[in-house]
Amino acid sequence: MLTRIAGGRVVDPVSGRDGKADLWIQDERIVEKPVQAVADQVIDARGCVVMAGGIDVHSHIAGGNVTLARLLLPELHVSETAGDPALPFSTARWSAFETGRLYARMGYTTVIEPALAPSAALATHLELDDIPLIDRGALSVLGNDDQLLSLLRRKEGSQAVRDLTALTLATSRGLGVKVINAGGAAAFKQNVRAFGLDDEVPSYGLTSRQILLALLEATTAIGVPHPLHVHCNNLGLPGAVDTLVATMKAAEGRPVHFAHAQFYSYGRHESGGIVSAAAEVCGALAANPNVTIDVGQVVFGQTCTISLDILRQFSSRKAGRPRKWILVDGDAEGGGIVPYRYRRNSDINALQFAIGLELFLLSPDPWRVLLTTDHPNGGPFTAYPRLIHLLMDKAERDRTLASLPEIVRERSGLAAIEREYTLTEVAVMTRAAPARLLGLVDRGHLKPGARADVAVYREDADRTAMFASAELVLKDGVVVVRKGEPLGWRAGRTLTLAPESDPAMRRHADHYLEERFGAGLESFAVPLEAFGERNVFEVEPCLT
Ligand SMILES: [Zn+2]
Repeated sequence: MLTRIAGGRVVDPVSGRDGKADLWIQDERIVEKPVQAVADQVIDARGCVVMAGGIDVHSHIAGGNVTLARLLLPELHVSETAGDPALPFSTARWSAFETGRLYARMGYTTVIEPALAPSAALATHLELDDIPLIDRGALSVLGNDDQLLSLLRRKEGSQAVRDLTALTLATSRGLGVKVINAGGAAAFKQNVRAFGLDDEVPSYGLTSRQILLALLEATTAIGVPHPLHVHCNNLGLPGAVDTLVATMKAAEGRPVHFAHAQFYSYGRHESGGIVSAAAEVCGALAANPNVTIDVGQVVFGQTCTISLDILRQFSSRKAGRPRKWILVDGDAEGGGIVPYRYRRNSDINALQFAIGLELFLLSPDPWRVLLTTDHPNGGPFTAYPRLIHLLMDKAERDRTLASLPEIVRERSGLAAIEREYTLTEVAVMTRAAPARLLGLVDRGHLKPGARADVAVYREDADRTAMFASAELVLKDGVVVVRKGEPLGWRAGRTLTLAPESDPAMRRHADHYLEERFGAGLESFAVPLEAFGERNVFEVEPCLT
């Protein structure tokens, strides 16, 4: 089937386009304008902006802790609105269907769950597969598990770390590797309550830095396209900027991604509390071109924080609103669920909000500063249109700023920033850059050969309205959303890597798991039979 999207303003930074043009689609792919061809379908895009489908690199949409959060806070509807009663599970909140629907209506077509616990890989993948309309992927978490730490303690060498990392990626079907407070969760189990980059996990005699560097080396050796995805130590603490910048330097020029950098862009104010360190973080970004960040912007309102950073969640449990929480002390990460309300009249929350926006606006390079709210930790992903609006419109920002406490003007530089994002910069931050960062070469752009994931937005000075509800969304060349509403349930794919795993390491891991849990490696696998007839997984190549 040949489709022509006619007369729209095509904004595609990868091909350097921003102007009126037709876009041609043959079946699932973008193609050059065919010679003498007549389109089977013409979509009138006059008055619209045409972009590649949006890509989210960090959003907690599936997995054990998301399920626990649903149980803890079933009444939380921040990112979920009642669906069309004709659609399945429309009355359920926090449902997989709602996640797919709400992403798709904003023109997003690929979303990455950043915390795939290898011990719960099957359940997470089954849940991801329940999310319709979008493609998904997940990052396998390593860095606190006894198997890896023991191997490092025994100094078995970088080849062994590489083999275990590759085996974990292959077994859990991850698209990349994430490390969360490297060693911190392991140290927590031995009553450690503060854990910096050079602190040691007591019984292993390993510092956080050593674990991080071992994983950096392993992911590079395997050729994982997405750089190691790092959740640093000391999240949320005054002075956390020192940890973030030190960890950037620790990478010594190797590609590395830092998640939700807003939660680390805090200096120490002389009177206590935090002060914006966004300028310092952006300075460090400029000095370290190997580094990318996503922001983890805070959004005012009720949410529920979900994190495998058990150290952090343990210490923040008392700030939970409503007053209830869950902490899970499992092998490897464990984790915690703490409900939280970001309040506009709270000094700290208002500052967090301003600091996040500062990171975007002081960014030396929109290719390296990506839009996330660390959903749902900073707030729901459904806030993206509003955030894009604030970045594109200084007057709108000033109106919002005027309603915030005075401390925001004293301890952040947001008010003085004139910058407004262009549509091209928005397309970089939400499409082109995330695709490049994940190594997804046929996504995030509209060049011939690209997957035909396309978002068409009705041009509107009210950018919130424009980006909240796409006029039309095509997934693999098929119209799946019209005027902000999905046309039905459509299955997506899950993107994975499939690195070769060493047979000796397989046997070793199988023996280890059998001995420790009475269940071997197969018990932690993600068998294709669990997904029925459909081919759910799409394997992305590793770098060679
Ligand atoms: Zn996160």
